[in-house]
Amino acid sequence: MLDILCNLLGAAFLLPLGMALGSFFEVVLDRLPRGESLLWPPSHCRTCKHRLTPDELVPVISYLAQRGRCRSCDTPIGRGVPLREGVSGLALGLPWAIVGCAHPFVALGVGIGALLVFWIARGATQGRPTPA
Ligand SMILES: [Zn+2]
Repeated sequence: MLDILCNLLGAAFLLPLGMALGSFFEVVLDRLPRGESLLWPPSHCRTCKHRLTPDELVPVISYLAQRGRCRSCDTPIGRGVPLREGVSGLALGLPWAIVGCAHPFVALGVGIGALLVFWIARGATQGRPTPA
C-alpha cells in the first residue's frame, strides 16, 4: 500500500517535470535550426509576436485552456506541441508510477532514456517530408 502511494507521489512530481522538459525541447528544436537564441526573445507567438504570459506557458494545460489557439491573434497552435509535451511527461512519470519506489534507478533510467530517445528521434526527423 505504501509502495503504491510512493509510486503515485513520485509520478505526480515527474509527470509535470517531464512535460516542462518536453516544452523546453520543443523550444530547442524550434529555435536552434533557425539560428535563434533559446533565451531571447522570450516565448512568443510567431504570427503576431504576442509575448506569452506565465499562464500561457503551462505545458498541455495552456493549450487546452486556449483551445489550441494564440490568445492574441487566434492563430492555431499545432496539436503536436501538447501531444509531445504529454508524451514527455508520461515518458518520465510512467516508469516511476509502475516501479519507482522499489527500483528508483531503473525507473529514472528508463524514464530519462525514453525522454531522450523520443526527443532525439524528433530532432532527427524534424523538417523531413512525411511519406504520403
Ligand atoms: Zn498570435
